[in-house]
Amino acid sequence: MTILNADTRRSRSNAAPASPDWKTRSVCRGKLADDFYSTIKSHKERARALCVGCPVIVECLNNQRQSDDAIYRWGVGGGLDPEQRRALELEELLGNVPNLAMARVLVSPRWLWRLRQLKAGCRSLEGIAAVLTQDGLLVDVVTVRVAVWWSGGEGSRMARLAPGDKRTWRAQLRDDYADVVVALHDLGARRADIAAYLGIPGTNGAKGVADVLKAAAARGLELAA
Ligand code: SF4
Repeated sequence: MTILNADTRRSRSNAAPASPDWKTRSVCRGKLADDFYSTIKSHKERARALCVGCPVIVECLNNQRQSDDAIYRWGVGGGLDPEQRRALELEELLGNVPNLAMARVLVSPRWLWRLRQLKAGCRSLEGIAAVLTQDGLLVDVVTVRVAVWWSGGEGSRMARLAPGDKRTWRAQLRDDYADVVVALHDLGARRADIAAYLGIPGTNGAKGVADVLKAAAARGLELAA
């Protein structure tokens, strides 16, 4: 299930129309699809690494954001796995549309070293975007997020905890991200997709989101009483 329908995705995309023959330039053309549809992490990483060297990664990801085909839901494509694309869909639901051409610049040899340096040094995507803006690149957070994914990073929306902050991710979710969890839930997003948006995919992430929603509902009942 997708939150945005294909027409909405098309209307929100900032993509220039791709030349119709872009698929003929893909590096996965004619290759075995096993890695692209595998559930094994190392295989998916191999597929994503192939995507990052692909000359049509922007066209491919735009195509997947605008369509509803099987690879959009299941496979690695456009350099992202399905959880990352679902997270991107929620970003777009919140009005955050990435500039994929700029994300491509960020993973080019000229900027990749800087992105890696900032991934290691900054606690959040917002921090990376702020430093890159000081460097003279006009980038927003969601564009940085796509570049971080493409470069093999987690690109989590949840900030890394400050040194000395010993909270668990569940406590951090409850303390710092309850508002966004509730907002996305109210917009119709599924729990697993909210968890993917925040960067905590998997069953645990969905359970954590469910706990936050339960607590928010209990608070609402208390206020109403
Ligand atoms: S970005 Fe990846 S899935 Fe898309 S055409 Fe290139 S190699 Fe294939």
